[in-house]
Amino acid sequence: MHKDIATPVRTKGILEKYGFSFKKSLGQNFLIDTNILNRIVDHAELTENSGTIEIGPGIGALTEQLAKRSKKVTAFEIDQRLLPILRDTLSLYDNVKIIHQDILKADVKQVISEEFDGLEDLMVVANLPYYVTTPIIMKLLTDHLPIRGIVVMLQKEVADRISARPGTKDYGSLSIAIQYYTEAETVMIVPKTVFVPQPNVDSAVIRLTIREKPIVEVKDEDFFFTVTRASFAQRRKTILNNLTSQLPEGKARKDLILQALERTAIDPVRRGETLSIEEFGRLSDALYDHFQ
Ligand code: SAM
Repeated sequence: MHKDIATPVRTKGILEKYGFSFKKSLGQNFLIDTNILNRIVDHAELTENSGTIEIGPGIGALTEQLAKRSKKVTAFEIDQRLLPILRDTLSLYDNVKIIHQDILKADVKQVISEEFDGLEDLMVVANLPYYVTTPIIMKLLTDHLPIRGIVVMLQKEVADRISARPGTKDYGSLSIAIQYYTEAETVMIVPKTVFVPQPNVDSAVIRLTIREKPIVEVKDEDFFFTVTRASFAQRRKTILNNLTSQLPEGKARKDLILQALERTAIDPVRRGETLSIEEFGRLSDALYDHFQ
């Protein structure tokens, strides 16, 4: 019987057959544990009518499981050397399409309209290349794609920051940027031993469920993100000090910043990490008219 790609023996055989050498610069750590892959796919809650988008199929370990459990898979792979390998390893599946492209340069919306026309449920599922996890996730969210959610493996440390709640050490502008668009949760911690080669860091899987509308309504999204980044510029500083030193001409406009804090009932000596996303929304709206 045909063995899954993600077994240590079959993966080794494929890598040897093609004389493949890993490129660290492309974040190539392949999964060799079918059990872990199945659990990742479980978290995506796919049906036979779901479409899936994968980023970085590698030699097809996750792609194969997605092909078995969804209607169609479209995967973006940057490394040309993997294309003939994927043609071979995935030859049994007629519902897989590989696109040779850097995901950061891809027009994903266009690809979705071409590849998934008529499918109502769409998920992104991937074991991300760790050197670009945050830009990839931010691109998928700010492109406003018609997807239900994203289930991805990444560095545990980044997963902790993404799903952090206010008042914790990991909470920061990344948590806010992602939780603004999605409900974020860490659903699995994954040991290094299930990859070849083994990465230097621990891994985790996060599930991001797209909100129907952002968690807060703000006058201007870009300015909201400017205010949140400014508020965490130096974690030990108060919100007042961070905003005066980071916002344009903040020092000269300290009185206006104080007024905005007072109007939104936020104590100027609090630190950014104690503010909820809703409080950041109110604060950014109160500051907006003075700083735009
Ligand atoms: N999905 C496979 C698995 O789980 O075994 C491989 C995952 S590996 C962590 C990341 C994959 O992403 C590699 O195949 C790598 O070549 C690919 N990759 C790296 N940067 C990329 C980019 N910017 N766009 C698309 N694919 C990329």
